[in-house]
Amino acid sequence: MVVEFEPSATSSDIKSVIEFVIHRLRYLREIDVCERHYLIISGYRDDINVKDLSSKHGVRRVTSPDTTAFFCRREFYPSGKSQVAIGDLTLGNGHLMIIAGPCAVECEDDLYATAKAVKAAGAHMFRAGAFKPRTSPYNFQGLGVTGLRWLSEVRQTVGLPVVSEVLDPYDVEIACEHLDMLQVGTRNMTNQSLLKHLGKANRPILLKRGASSKLEELVRAAEFITVEGNPNIVLCERGIQTFETATRNTLDLSAVPALRCMTHLPIVVDPSHATGRSDLVTDMALAAAIVGTDGLMVEVHVAPERMIKPGDGQQALLPEQFLELVQKLKKVLKAVDR
Ligand code: PEP
Ligand code: MN
Repeated sequence: MVVEFEPSATSSDIKSVIEFVIHRLRYLREIDVCERHYLIISGYRDDINVKDLSSKHGVRRVTSPDTTAFFCRREFYPSGKSQVAIGDLTLGNGHLMIIAGPCAVECEDDLYATAKAVKAAGAHMFRAGAFKPRTSPYNFQGLGVTGLRWLSEVRQTVGLPVVSEVLDPYDVEIACEHLDMLQVGTRNMTNQSLLKHLGKANRPILLKRGASSKLEELVRAAEFITVEGNPNIVLCERGIQTFETATRNTLDLSAVPALRCMTHLPIVVDPSHATGRSDLVTDMALAAAIVGTDGLMVEVHVAPERMIKPGDGQQALLPEQFLELVQKLKKVLKAVDR
């Protein structure tokens, strides 16, 4: 249940509402979203009378108890489309944001060289994983905190904001110290413990779609972050699992316009993990721009052959291929009036 307060509600109005429900509830928190104050009530019993609650002084409205997503629905936002600030940048303002970089933080020299190359080609943000989710415990798990430190040095030296994945709630705090945006990978979209911790983080979140998750589940995952107090979320379509084996995943491009109908949150498309093939990445990036994505996330590496195996070398673009992608993108964006 969500109680929305009037902007004029006083702290004693809020206190009186809390006192009204406190003996009936199991979990209660107050959050501010879009300059409005809300009380989230979870685990209540049927004995909270919505009518009585709605009539309390300072209460603007009380939403239905069966609401599964409220803040992340398109209807929540007056214009139907929100923007997310990432450092000095804004995602969702009509300009297409390009995020690029290697799969993982591996070697410091390659990290710098790739960051410089993607910036020169026109990327707005840098990406690289310090914590890597793997299918085998024997594979490279990432450099962890050392990787975060290198990323924050690259961020300073090269001058690009940085996004990187967090796997564990315990790493959220240190990741916030080093990064401009925190990523939830496909394997963790349903990790509610992580989502809740990210709801308390003071950084925007890039939430990737679970490989077998419906769009509705993606929106609800975003809601888990928002109700803990962090509404700064960007959704990412990165391909879903189908029977097809020619590509690593199947890029669901219809997710972009479909999500637009469901949520106001900005959307990024990741054609690299969606296809797993560098020869398909550019075409899929252009297609994503046509269907209206707010951003692209592309894997680029100065020397994919140097990546630690098994890595995402097959899907990484070389800097010159990335530059070509950016140049083609400009033409496509012009053609579709963006
Ligand atoms: C990544 O971005 O490096 C990554 C592991 O992505 P995903 O979670 O989409 O597989
Ligand atoms: Mn990768």
